[in-house]
Parts: sequence; C-alpha cells; structure tokens
Amino acid sequence: MAILRSSVVGPARPTVKAKTVYAEHMESIVLFGPPGAGKGTQAQRITESTGLPQVSTGDMLRAAVAAGTQTGMEAKKYMDAGQLVPDQVIIDLIKDRIQENDAVNGVMFDGFTRTIPQAEALANITTVSHVISIEVPDERIVERICGRYTCANCGAVYHDSFKPTAEEGKCDSCGGLEFKRRADDNADTVMSRLEAYHTQTSPLGEWYNSKGIFHVIDGDRAIDQITDDIIAALK
Ligand code: AMP
Repeated sequence: MAILRSSVVGPARPTVKAKTVYAEHMESIVLFGPPGAGKGTQAQRITESTGLPQVSTGDMLRAAVAAGTQTGMEAKKYMDAGQLVPDQVIIDLIKDRIQENDAVNGVMFDGFTRTIPQAEALANITTVSHVISIEVPDERIVERICGRYTCANCGAVYHDSFKPTAEEGKCDSCGGLEFKRRADDNADTVMSRLEAYHTQTSPLGEWYNSKGIFHVIDGDRAIDQITDDIIAALK
C-alpha cells in the first residue's frame, strides 16, 4: 500500500513533508515515457505528494558509472550509445533496491520498466498499481533534452530555455551553485535513445494497458498541469 498526500492537490505545493494519507489501491508506480518526457521532474513532485521514494534506474546506473563498479563499467558502453542496458543488469539492481527500508510501502519507478522482460520480473517481486505514461512527440524531445541540466546538489531539473533558474547560476530549490549536464544528453545519442524507446519500450505500454493500470498523460504542457493530472490519475 502506498500513499498520497491530499494536501498537495491545492495550488500551494508543500516543500516540507506533511502527514501522509494512504490512498486505497495504491502501491508502486511506474513512470513511463520517452527520454526527455519530464519523468524525473514529475517524479520529484510525486515523491513530495505521495511519500514514495523515487527509484531511477538511470540515476542508479550513473552512480555506478561514477563509482567505477563492475555494473557501471558494463552499463556505460550501452548508455554512451543510447542503448538499453541488458535486462538482467537492471533487474538485479532493482531487486537489491527494493529490499531497502524506504521501499516497504512501494516505490515510484522512474525509467523502469523499459522492456516486457523487466515488467514481468517486476510483477514477480512487487505490485504495480499505476503506470503513468507521459507522452511527448518526438520532434519536441531533442530540444527538451539538449538544454537540460540539473543541480549537482539536490537534483532539481532545469532547462536553458524552458525552465532556467530564477537567479542565474543558483538553484531555486537549494541555493546550490553547481550544475550538471548528462553525457548522453546530446543530439546524436538522443536519436538512438528514441529508437530504443519506440522499438523496445513502447510495446510495454500495450502490456500494461491490457492490465487496466495504464494512464496516458499529455506531457507537452506546463509542468504544473502535468503534475495535477498525474495526481488525479493516482487517486
Ligand atoms: P534515463 O536516465 O532513464 O534516461 O536512462 C539513461 C540510460 O540508462 C538509458 O539510455 C539506458 O542506457 C540506461 N537505462 C536506464 N534505465 C534503464 C532500464 N530500465 N533498462 C535499460 N536501460 C536503462
């Protein structure tokens, strides 16, 4: 069972965790959609409103690459090429992650699952109550990805044109002064990532749709509108 804080539905978005309310029939959530759809941005917001921890396989892999682990070294060649990392590597990461204490009420998966074998493996280890598919047309993806950067301290997501920091060089959320750009956020790699999405990940939408837990959200709108629709879909 997982949680949805009713307090977030109003116009003011709390930055401090308030008391959580348990929503019926809500367990783990999968955030689904092409690269650059805004899954990470929405994940941060849904984490605030549900209390579910964000589990991003992309973040876990980037941490493994930075730490120079064996998993990281194996994953890097796929990530640099914009290809999916082999299923078993991802499934093993997730199996370990959901053993952690904060996952006891479910988690919010960001960028996982991406293939049918991953979804079948997940179904054997935890219950998914909602799959939120954030849809953005391909022609918008490249511009969205190529201007993207994050705060090195808190991970808040920004964009050169669409969502710059309010004060130049200073994170709106934590005041951090350092920012990062992902190595794979470039025009060449984006085309491979999009192709992987359409050939390997898109078919998974049908799979979840047949289970009646698939919610399509138009991701080509203002960030707040998207968040509101996701919160509504989770109720
Ligand atoms: P993301 O941060 O979700 O865009 O992921 C960045 C890269 O990590 C992807 O392009 C893949 O190479 C790899 N990756 C992340 N999550 C998965 C997954 N669930 N399955 C396979 N590869 C993944």
